[in-house]
Amino acid sequence: AKAHGRNCMQFFNQQIQKDAERNAELHLYLKTALIQNEFQLYYQPIVNPFTAQITKAEVLLRWIHDDQFISPDEFIPIAEESGLIVQIGEWVRMQALTSIVAMQKSDFTIPLSINVSTIEFWNTDLQHRFAAYFDVLQQQFGLDVFPYSLLTLEITESLMMSQQDSINQLLTDLRHRGMQISVDDFGTGYSSLSYLVNFPVDQIKIDKSFIQRISSGSRHKSLIEAIVSMSRALDLSIVAEGVETEAELDFIKQQNIDAVQGYYFHKPMPQEAFFDLLAKQAES
Ligand code: C2E
Ligand code: CA
Ligand code: CA
Ligand code: CA
Repeated sequence: AKAHGRNCMQFFNQQIQKDAERNAELHLYLKTALIQNEFQLYYQPIVNPFTAQITKAEVLLRWIHDDQFISPDEFIPIAEESGLIVQIGEWVRMQALTSIVAMQKSDFTIPLSINVSTIEFWNTDLQHRFAAYFDVLQQQFGLDVFPYSLLTLEITESLMMSQQDSINQLLTDLRHRGMQISVDDFGTGYSSLSYLVNFPVDQIKIDKSFIQRISSGSRHKSLIEAIVSMSRALDLSIVAEGVETEAELDFIKQQNIDAVQGYYFHKPMPQEAFFDLLAKQAES
């Protein structure tokens, strides 16, 4: 048993060492990923489950390094730890605006939802930088008005927990300009429901972990029902995320949820495929 324990420890130590090396390596390459043009945006349609019509899309970041696809679940935490997320976030918003401008020229404009990291709001300097960047973009693109109403910010519960008045003010200001605020991965964090009352938000996204448990029984369904009725009481719109099966879709429709994102309808795709899809929808 002792020998077995020792082997186990050795295995864990090796694994920790490997992970640390991989992290260090990714961090190194992440520093130059922007200037090397290694990032790309993918788009995942959000549809009306009753008509399958595309009403919105979420923008999802992709990193292709050395012909390897590195998952955002792996590199976003490294970008957050190193602070690189600030420049990366700005790049994402610049690209999203580029897409919106292109859609407006093509006559099939829909709103885009973008992810922002809580780290991007870490201190008041960053908060000012965050707000100012929209003005920078407006100037760079030579826009008379910034299309705030075509953007949704997906924040996470950790931002609501930080409970800084300055963040509350910043988001309130962005909402006044027409931007929507959505709470991503709702129910997976530690946040208390009262944050939803006091924080300026328009929408919640039901996390895919809840959707995936729909088939495991009535208690899981009840949980979603509770989230839905609470959201309605607070006048928040709802997106159900990670819908993959007919059974999940049926339940979501029974709940009268009118925005769904998931592989059942569409996987995330490159811009060209996404624009083709929108063009086809505009024709029909
Ligand atoms: P998220 O914001 O919760 O994004 C939804 C994730 O669920 C995406 O993973 C999407 O591809 C996946 N998904 C959508 N429908 C289904 C489905 O039916 N089944 C399954 N199994 N998965 C589905 P992705 O693209 O790998 O992104 C992972 C996470 O990385 C995102 O989770 C988000 O937290 C983060 N992320 C992605 N892009 C950005 C970004 O531009 N900025 C920041 N800060 N974070 C980002
Ligand atoms: Ca998201
Ligand atoms: Ca999510
Ligand atoms: Ca997530």
